[in-house]
Amino acid sequence: MKSLTLKQLTELVMEQAKAKGFGTKADEISVAEKIALIHSEISEAFEAYRHKNMTGKDGFEEELGDAVQRILHLCGALGIDLEPVILKKLDYNKDRVWEWSKLNEDHQR
Ligand SMILES: [Mg+2]
Repeated sequence: MKSLTLKQLTELVMEQAKAKGFGTKADEISVAEKIALIHSEISEAFEAYRHKNMTGKDGFEEELGDAVQRILHLCGALGIDLEPVILKKLDYNKDRVWEWSKLNEDHQR
């Protein structure tokens, strides 16, 4: 399978959204519902991880893919080009310093 850009993936997601009647414009969707659906896919990924289902049906990988598809659908409907947004944030984070000692995270295991 060939690699696609984020924009090309968004176009595929929007083609399917149109075909399935999921809404392709801001006034055809509920943003709050779409955000909730993104949350639900992330929760499904967490449950799959807990049950050590990484690559199977409804597995961790698939659920992360579902989450990304839903994010791309929301962005497509709202006209958000995610690639420059991500690149801008990556650039911002390049020199960003996190004060890990002030955070209750166990990322340094
Ligand atoms: Mg799912």
